[in-house]
Amino acid sequence: MNDMTQHFHQVEMKPKEFKSEVEPVWCPGCGHYGVLAGMYRAMSELGLDPNYTVNLSGIGCSSRTPYFVQSYKMHTLHGRAGAVATGTQLARPDLAVIVTGGDGDGFSIGGGHMPHLARKNINMTYILMDNRIYGLTKGQVSPTSRKEMKAYTTPYGGVEEPLDPVLYMLTYGATYVGQAFAGNPKMCASLIKGALEHQGFSFVNIFSQCPTFNKIDTAKYFKGLVVDVPDDLELDDSSSAMAHVQQVNRQGKLAVGLLHQSQRTTLDQEMARLVKKVGGNAEYDLQKIVDLSRP
Ligand code: SF4
Ligand code: MG
Repeated sequence: MNDMTQHFHQVEMKPKEFKSEVEPVWCPGCGHYGVLAGMYRAMSELGLDPNYTVNLSGIGCSSRTPYFVQSYKMHTLHGRAGAVATGTQLARPDLAVIVTGGDGDGFSIGGGHMPHLARKNINMTYILMDNRIYGLTKGQVSPTSRKEMKAYTTPYGGVEEPLDPVLYMLTYGATYVGQAFAGNPKMCASLIKGALEHQGFSFVNIFSQCPTFNKIDTAKYFKGLVVDVPDDLELDDSSSAMAHVQQVNRQGKLAVGLLHQSQRTTLDQEMARLVKKVGGNAEYDLQKIVDLSRP
């Protein structure tokens, strides 16, 4: 363990014991099954106590994930899971806070929240299940859809450049950034485990095929393009990660693995420091902060 590691309430549970009583209803071949398998495995390896874990989501196929995991959970508004997670984490810094969601939910409808989760270094894990399409609403282009993609909203082909989630998060100061392919649940588990252990805002982008509505970015397509991050990448330097991702993207490939990990104080730590400064020796307490902010 290093000083970026956080400590959880722990239990001994096998991966399958993290399954809830609700069965996933995703289409056959959906990449989200691989991400969920990775989550179960990561939670088991860490021994994450479901009584001290909160899974949050917005709206979308991937936003159903909390239903399938043993933990407290909240299916919030479209694009707003990050904001609810911020409040949850500040109110209860002892909980493991996890958001799962899609490319449309996170970067279009909820796009205004994303830079703030990163810049404030909220101590939480955000797992983006990126299928480059809106699945639940039956196939419209999303912010990560490729240019010229034909979908219900773009019958003549899309005219917008796609957004790259990991470059975005590196730019705004996320302190843990990884990328994986859902067809490799082992890598998903490893990155999710690292993200959960990391103290600070951790972001994992997972290419997760939607065989029902995206016939271009298929599992075979992603599998053929992924390239492992080299061992000598300077993980604590976000500009190295950005340069690497851009170089791999220019080659038409996709960089997978841990791209960046660094340390700075989290928002709850900053607020605790403020409380001590203003209010004496008070321990971190959200109510205390509310009281202090009153005139
Ligand atoms: Fe998965 Fe696409 Fe089906 Fe949604 S519509 S469950 S994303 S395959
Ligand atoms: Mg999507």
